[in-house]
Amino acid sequence: MSDPALKILRSVFGYDAFRAQQAQIVAHVAGGADALVLMPTGGGKSLCYQIPALLRPGTGIVVSPLIALMHDQVDALTQLGVRAAYLNSSLDAEAARSVEMALLAGELDLLYVAPERLVSERFMGLLTRADIALFAIDEAHCVSQWGHDFRPEYIQLSVLHERFPAVPRIALTATADELTRSEIRERLGLTQAQVFLSSFDRPNIRYHLTPKHNARQQLLEFLRREHPGDAGIVYCLSRRSVDDTAAWLLTQGINALPYHAGLDNATRRQHQDRFLREEGLVMVATVAFGMGIDKPNVRFVAHLDLPKSLEGYYQETGRAGRDGLPASAWLAYGLNDAIQLRRMLAESGASEQHKRVEAHKLEAMLAFCETTRCRRQALLAYFGETYPEPCGNCDTCLQPVATWDGTVAAQKALSCVYRTGNRFGVGHLIDVLLGKASDKVHEHGHQHVSTFGIGSELDVAGWRSVYRQLIAAGMLAVDLEGYGALRLTEAARPVLRGETRLLLRRDPTPKGRSRDARPA
Ligand code: ADP
Ligand code: ZN
Repeated sequence: MSDPALKILRSVFGYDAFRAQQAQIVAHVAGGADALVLMPTGGGKSLCYQIPALLRPGTGIVVSPLIALMHDQVDALTQLGVRAAYLNSSLDAEAARSVEMALLAGELDLLYVAPERLVSERFMGLLTRADIALFAIDEAHCVSQWGHDFRPEYIQLSVLHERFPAVPRIALTATADELTRSEIRERLGLTQAQVFLSSFDRPNIRYHLTPKHNARQQLLEFLRREHPGDAGIVYCLSRRSVDDTAAWLLTQGINALPYHAGLDNATRRQHQDRFLREEGLVMVATVAFGMGIDKPNVRFVAHLDLPKSLEGYYQETGRAGRDGLPASAWLAYGLNDAIQLRRMLAESGASEQHKRVEAHKLEAMLAFCETTRCRRQALLAYFGETYPEPCGNCDTCLQPVATWDGTVAAQKALSCVYRTGNRFGVGHLIDVLLGKASDKVHEHGHQHVSTFGIGSELDVAGWRSVYRQLIAAGMLAVDLEGYGALRLTEAARPVLRGETRLLLRRDPTPKGRSRDARPA
């Protein structure tokens, strides 16, 4: 046992062997070089900077945005005999001062610092007088302006390189899409750093996505069937649906608690503590809940509304099954989700460029919902990873999706949008296709358009499925004005002209409906 890194792994941390790429990363950084580490949650990122910090002379400075996590990590390290401390807004002036003294006296192996404090002039001055082993930038995706965890102070972390060019830096994140990756490299001045990309697969998580009919009821059936008595998280888009869903689950005998930014601090903390401590609680929450929550036995993560991107979906579902035991990621998606998210995006004050990027991410999310491939293969492909075989542990693998030739149906659906002037929503378009003489149909004279009544081969659910898939395929765009009005895009042309055939996914038949009414 001559390798000093392995020796520390065993004697200090009590583990037998390095996992996956840990050994290479530790050797690389301990040798003084920069690294960008992309590793899924639970993969073991912490040791990648903790061990080099112990191997090199001086203090390892760790930037982390999560105050609660800093505290836990420092506690755990101290128990192992590592000289660790943190500096953030939770310390009073005197406590902060004594940590600073310890840093200058060379009495610390690791110092965790909040980003805003690190980049302050005062602290920079302090660092020039200290002996620094390395800089570790945890949750490095916070530097990405497109991401949902953007922290402006992270942008300023590029000064570390300018002020301390000789100190190795290691940036770590569990977000690995190409765009975020290149943003991290550029903004943190890590273009020369070696990239260590681990597999992002979470083999114990079973993915299951289903079209929405009655989301709550579907959720309840899923919970009763697969996770009775288990702890889990249910994500909803709005505070109101969080409150309503939690209350409703309680009436159904499920032990549920709400969590969102509209609750007062004390209630939020109490609900979070109960979720961490008690067995089998279901947390119904907005995405405000979860970052930095370290509960290993979360058995499921359910989404009642569509996440805005696959990055978000991956991060949120990644909170399930950190203990490596079987866990589920369940999601119900519907046409209205897609329309609502597009509208929210269109109405947001974001720049055109930002909107384009976000629209692209939403498209990828929708395509993931509608895919007939293995979900794991599709998800990992989005993160640039090739998963060789269908996984056998997702809904499409376990119950292969039937497809049908939807070319003619798609042509009908698209020309109905065109004939009615690109300014109506799905409900009305379906009325026209089915030949329903509603007031609105008469008001606009749509009983006279050529697509009136030509769609009797499908029912309402069948047409909604077709429209959903056409939106996911980018052939229909949701208009900015009007309530979810659809208009044709360039991508619709080849189908309308009969130049391409279109295979559509056949939705599973919900209970209580006959298969006859489905697309044939
Ligand atoms: P991440 O920050 O990537 O989410 P952590 O660094 O918190 O992951 O590690 C996740 C868990 O795996 C921790 O409990 C950690 O102690 C454990 N772990 C990490 N590396 C090893 C290893 N080489 N052997 C055994 N356990 C490890
Ligand atoms: Zn699969």
